[in-house]
Amino acid sequence: MPSAVVTGSSRGLGRAIALRFAADGYDVAVNYHTSEAAANEVADEVRDAGQSAVVVGADVSDPAAAQRLVDTAAAEFGGVDHVVNNAGIDQHVYTADLDPADFDRVMDVNVNSAFNVTKAALQHLEASADEPSITNVSSILAHVGAPIEVHYASSKGALLSLTRSHARDFAPDVRVNAIAPGHIETDMTSDRSPEEKAEELEAIPVGEYGEPADIADAAAYLRDATFVTGETLNVNGGEDMR
Ligand code: NAP
Repeated sequence: MPSAVVTGSSRGLGRAIALRFAADGYDVAVNYHTSEAAANEVADEVRDAGQSAVVVGADVSDPAAAQRLVDTAAAEFGGVDHVVNNAGIDQHVYTADLDPADFDRVMDVNVNSAFNVTKAALQHLEASADEPSITNVSSILAHVGAPIEVHYASSKGALLSLTRSHARDFAPDVRVNAIAPGHIETDMTSDRSPEEKAEELEAIPVGEYGEPADIADAAAYLRDATFVTGETLNVNGGEDMR
């Protein structure tokens, strides 16, 4: 069976991506940082779909932990065919009040993690017979910026550069693409006030938030799209047209 490592798959978009890969016939390494019980539930759902799952607690911003995640997946599944670098954190603070240590932490989790897991998985991906791929989960904010979360937006911009650089580096063996989601309903976006939600919805031409399944669809497309590399798939209800 082909297999995938999905970082940050205990909740939200990563969970949806892990379950979509399982539904499509992939064994899945479910990675969490703090939400162990939720990760075990995702793994149970992967097994219910008829696939193998392994759960790995790892802060993937730590290179050694990222290596352990990949090593565990490779040992369990006999290789790694696809990687989805989804783990991410956000924080709403204007630059005037932003602690440099918080800037570094957001960059570490959102950018360094993708580098760490990619580097650890590269030899397995290059050995894969399943049209291997890496998909990095960026954000619409990489394109439009975000005054109250400059570190987050900067990290997501860096992920797009990482994506194109790795796409060129790893061609023709491994395709590397990015997804730039708009506003998707998950824990990350659950702290909005009704006023903020109304303002956000006003800016989305389709008039609604996306769902995690919309991003899982994009991840499945990029996994299978053998003529697409170095690309960013924008999934945002048309928001970036404004
Ligand atoms: P979420 O609901 O907050 O879930 C975040 C996931 O990342 C959790 O599974 C969490 O694991 C994991 N994670 C965080 N830090 C980690 C670390 N150091 N090591 C390993 N795993 C870690 O967020 P989400 O909305 O699903 O977002 C997923 C990705 O999509 C993020 O990269 C985010 O920036 C991006 N994105 C989201 C939106 C949106 O509207 N939701 C829009 C654009 C981009 P634990 O719970 O186990 O700690």
